[in-house]
Amino acid sequence: MYAEIIIPLALPKNYTWAIPFEMEEAVMIGMRVEVMLGSNKRYAGIIKKLQTEKPAGFNPKPIISVLDEAPIVFPAQLQLWEWMANYYMCTEGEVMQAAVPSHLKISSESIFVINEDVNVDGEQLSDPEYIISEALQIKKQLSLLEIQKLLDKKAVYPIVNKLIQKGICSVQETMQDKYTIKVENVLHLHPNYKSEAALEKLMDDWSRAPKQLTLLLAFLHLQKTAGHVQQKALLEKSGAAHAQLKALIDKGILVLEKRKIDRLAVDLNLGNANLHELSFHQKLAFESIVEQMKTHAVNLLHGITGSGKTQIYAALIDQAIQSNQQALYMLPEIALTAQMIRRLKQYFGGKIAIYHSKFNPNERVEIWNKVKSGEIKIVLGARSALFLPYKNLSLIIIDEEHDASYKQQDPAPRYQARDTAIFYANQLGAKVVLGSATPSIETYYNAMQNKFGYYHLKERFSEGALPKMLIVDTKKQTDQAAILTPFLLEAIQATVAKDKQVILFQNKRGYAPYIICETCGWIPHCKQCDVSLTLHKEKNILSCHYCGAAYPVVQTCEACGKQNFKQKKFGTEQIEEKLAKALPHLRIARMDLDNVKGKNEHDQLIQQFEQRQIDVLVGTQMVVKGLDFENVDLVGIVDADSLLNFNQYRVNERAFQMMEQVSGRAGRKNDQGRVIVQLSQTNHPVIEFVKEHDYTAFYQFEINNRKHFAYPPFSRLMSILFKHKENHIAEEAANHFLKSLDPLIQKTVMGPAQPIINRIRNKYIWELCVKISRQPQQLQIAKKQLLHFIHLISVHPRYKSVQIIIDIDPN
Ligand code: ADP
Ligand code: ZN
Ligand code: ZN
Repeated sequence: MYAEIIIPLALPKNYTWAIPFEMEEAVMIGMRVEVMLGSNKRYAGIIKKLQTEKPAGFNPKPIISVLDEAPIVFPAQLQLWEWMANYYMCTEGEVMQAAVPSHLKISSESIFVINEDVNVDGEQLSDPEYIISEALQIKKQLSLLEIQKLLDKKAVYPIVNKLIQKGICSVQETMQDKYTIKVENVLHLHPNYKSEAALEKLMDDWSRAPKQLTLLLAFLHLQKTAGHVQQKALLEKSGAAHAQLKALIDKGILVLEKRKIDRLAVDLNLGNANLHELSFHQKLAFESIVEQMKTHAVNLLHGITGSGKTQIYAALIDQAIQSNQQALYMLPEIALTAQMIRRLKQYFGGKIAIYHSKFNPNERVEIWNKVKSGEIKIVLGARSALFLPYKNLSLIIIDEEHDASYKQQDPAPRYQARDTAIFYANQLGAKVVLGSATPSIETYYNAMQNKFGYYHLKERFSEGALPKMLIVDTKKQTDQAAILTPFLLEAIQATVAKDKQVILFQNKRGYAPYIICETCGWIPHCKQCDVSLTLHKEKNILSCHYCGAAYPVVQTCEACGKQNFKQKKFGTEQIEEKLAKALPHLRIARMDLDNVKGKNEHDQLIQQFEQRQIDVLVGTQMVVKGLDFENVDLVGIVDADSLLNFNQYRVNERAFQMMEQVSGRAGRKNDQGRVIVQLSQTNHPVIEFVKEHDYTAFYQFEINNRKHFAYPPFSRLMSILFKHKENHIAEEAANHFLKSLDPLIQKTVMGPAQPIINRIRNKYIWELCVKISRQPQQLQIAKKQLLHFIHLISVHPRYKSVQIIIDIDPN
């Protein structure tokens, strides 16, 4: 027997291996097997196809071992991967790389790290497993090579696989944040005092240390009321100090246990709440969507900000799980999942789990398995949640469907998760609900063509009006005063005086986006990128936002030698500083990539804001998306011009979405909120639509532009980047490539041109943009040609070191 196997690498195609006779019984499609690639590289690959005919022309090598007892992926997933590789012009290996948690992807490059929090029970281990686990205790981590040496054999994958399954070791993920295990300190009574009599005697004989006795009594009380006693709660309740607790532990009265907090654990207090009853308008929306789902695989719920779309999704999800199906709820950003899970856990308790790429590997495998078995009914996640092995998925909700983050930029697969979900749902026979207050132009167009079902929910849940938009013309201000105009400052003060909160939105982080020599006009640039450097005052550096490089702040101009720099434009850091100076009594916090690291910090800040410990939150897009704060009355869009000045066909769409979404954070409960938009281009057409919150008029305006210039949805775009450290080589390669194409396809290509940022990390970039009709056939022909010529470039003596990146449906 022979097997076509997917290896998590960018190989040009899948290769075939032979299945030795004695393993034939053990293999199935979707299982992992250990294979050798080249002379010594080993990988865990996934069987895609099994066949009896020997492939023509070569002699396949045998697989080394079978790693699974049951498939880890379903055939439907393999079909999805194949479609993605085909559509997004990447390899199935690259899709596998993105789709499968690292623990299921061992290779000879993997490093295996001990899980310190797992108690190893030697009895449960085979001899070789025991040897490895002992070695891990000492060395903490081992490479595959070391394991092979230790066991004095080559085929060690099955053993390592078992150790991973038993939670004894993990595959190290170098790219990921290091996961910290959450532990809580829990206290127990020592078994010696478990009996009433022994406890009584202990108390009777108590002579000194009254504080310790108080502590013990507090412990007993908590144990009775709360069931289990956390150290933190105990110390708080009793007012005792650590030393006293330690004394009780040292005396052998209490025992301390470090308990790992199971993030998947079902909180018994949750999940009992009933779903909120839908309002009249919500009910209409819900019923209409349910009805339309009978005829449409994809449905758009277009609901203004604050209309309560989440409740409708919850009702739809509830319906799905009532009939014992699974539901996937996708959000564009990991950061949003925390607030949402708090809301959804109330109703769905342990039936719902979060899944995204920042989760620790053990946990991801755990969720993977529970989704596969059907134990987890609802998954809340970002893009990668689409790749879980759903047992019976019947509903996919795509919240904030317009959001650009649904597109993965780097690395391949450069996929649009919304579009991919639609394909996948079709394949599975599941239904999709897209939701947004500002649908993407393509989605709305599809709805208008009746390709998608559609419902427009025009009322806020609170019955309140959308916020009032006030435009402040910054042309009338000096540069400095335009950052926070007197009008905005006054409004902030008045809002806080009413005990309400404020959000200030600015799309640039740092202090000043660039500095310039006033004498000669020289601007410091990144040495590796064609990008001006942003001044960060707190860190006292100049930073490149493209490659992350940091430079000391220059004082002397490299061009003219004068010391005469001026800061230009402004970012969140400067707004925070200016605001603190102008209104020193306010509690101000900033939320951007510089001061919010990791999902926990982000979530903490959001909770602080929710609990009103912060008056004004200054931030980038992070503060905008989908969050629900009920006490925000005023939103300031500090520099709306920066949203309107992009050279990209989607600029209007993005600017409208961004402003409408930020505004949507204001006045979500009760009072009508206000939005202050500071800008100089007061006549920009998009501003008119934003002022009236008029999506439909905006759409009419924009769809005409798209039609006129034949941009999506009236065509399909593909971007092809040529990157090389020599500018002229990249340019030549792009031209060479263009000339090789069939004249019919050539006609559809724009470029080669240099993008606005034409050098990143020392590589010059030239771009071809293909704009072709949406006919699937034409697309296939074009793709085939492109692939062919990309291959020719990759073996061309002069251009083979040019890196080519294809992006289908680029953002
Ligand atoms: P959207 O996502 O459409 O902007 P949300 O779903 O965040 O709106 O809802 C806005 C607010 O209204 C939330 O605070 C939510 O709890 C509340 N809400 C919405 N629907 C209901 C309902 N049926 N019952 C009670 N509260 C609701
Ligand atoms: Zn100068
Ligand atoms: Zn750089």
